[in-house]
Amino acid sequence: MNFELSEEQRLLQATVREFCAREVTPNARRWDEAEAFPHEVVPKLAELGLLGMNIPEEYGGTGMPLADQAIVIEELARSDGSVCLTVASHNSLCSGHIKIAGSEAQKQRYLPRLASGEALGAWGLTEPGSGSDASAARTSAEWRGDRWVLNGQKTFITQGSVGGVFVILASTTPEKKQRGMTAFIVEKGQRGFRAGKKLEKLGLHASDTAELILEEVELPDEQRLGALDHGFTDTLRILERGRIGIASMAVGLARGALEEAVAYAKQRVQFGVALAKHQAIQAMLADMATQVDAARLLVRRAAWLQDQGVRTPSESSMAKLIAARMATRVCDTAIQILGGYGYTREFPVERYLRDVKLCEIGEGTNEVQRILLARHLFGPTVTG
Ligand SMILES: Cc1cc2nc3c(=O)[nH]c(=O)nc-3n(C[C@H](O)[C@H](O)[C@H](O)COP(=O)(O)OP(=O)(O)OC[C@H]3O[C@@H](n4cnc5c(N)ncnc54)[C@H](O)[C@@H]3O)c2cc1C
Repeated sequence: MNFELSEEQRLLQATVREFCAREVTPNARRWDEAEAFPHEVVPKLAELGLLGMNIPEEYGGTGMPLADQAIVIEELARSDGSVCLTVASHNSLCSGHIKIAGSEAQKQRYLPRLASGEALGAWGLTEPGSGSDASAARTSAEWRGDRWVLNGQKTFITQGSVGGVFVILASTTPEKKQRGMTAFIVEKGQRGFRAGKKLEKLGLHASDTAELILEEVELPDEQRLGALDHGFTDTLRILERGRIGIASMAVGLARGALEEAVAYAKQRVQFGVALAKHQAIQAMLADMATQVDAARLLVRRAAWLQDQGVRTPSESSMAKLIAARMATRVCDTAIQILGGYGYTREFPVERYLRDVKLCEIGEGTNEVQRILLARHLFGPTVTG
């Protein structure tokens, strides 16, 4: 057992940290306030290899192990939750689905474009009437003799209005509910396919979230991704990895809040001494540091297991559940330590709190993680 980062991992961490200090942190507040997608950062992320980190080298990516991707995601989140979510979802959901389930032709056609940043990836499962309950999905794909025809609506889709390559889950055998879903690759500009309303959010303002509309979208069978009715089974594998990403994002935001709070406590004087001298503040910071580390260890375990080729249904849920809950509390406590200043935009901690809440919701809410974990404890016959 080894808890040390390797020399390569330290170098990776330092490189991404330096990149963020130069290209992301100085712009994060402006991007948040503009509530617009920061297109200018995309080529820079691509140049550093971060848009292809989940893509094998033979398809133009950097093919990083998941443990290394977790390091990158933590660093990005520490700097800006929105840029972090863009990178995490592009890699783990869209590219990840094509990598896991795609044919050789699909991988050759799409993965190099995704790795180079020529196209951003988006992934659509959620619908207006179907979030935690995928079995309620209504988007359909019907085989009409020589082509598929997709109809329906997706919502909450990250990169929904800025993406170029979309993976869409649609029902192909409705009576089988979520077990009758199939994935399809849809490209921007495809007839009948368009982004709908952009969603206004509490946080992650510089991450694009939009509805998708599919009206008689005609696709050849070559655009089917994975086996017929296998979309949800593949989704479970993808989310096992994606949840490790969201957990890393939570750790990064919490670490950011902790570092801001420590720095502030050292320089802010009240009652004649620095806040850091007050034991009540020390205890808050000690708890925050402990919780961030504990969550990171669960993230590393899950990522390491994935890198050994082991499935991690429970380990990913545990990491995400602990990290997301911990991070919301830690960001909230950081505001408390900064007092009134923490409540202003002068410091990034209020943004961290607004951004981090997503980690308790996206890729399965806290409640869904607990349901999945309970299923592993009791087996589906008991939990239903
Ligand atoms: C910023 C953002 C980005 C997102 N990006 C994507 C994306 O790229 N692609 C995509 O497909 N989706 C995306 N999502 C959607 C996200 O995955 C869903 O919001 C999430 O799965 C929850 O679904 P819901 O919002 O419909 O909530 P609901 O499922 O309606 O749940 C509402 C509440 O009820 C609880 N609940 C539901 N069922 C149960 C139960 N059985 N027992 C106990 N409690 C329950 C939930 O935990 C939650 O607290 C994104 C969401 C956000 C906010």
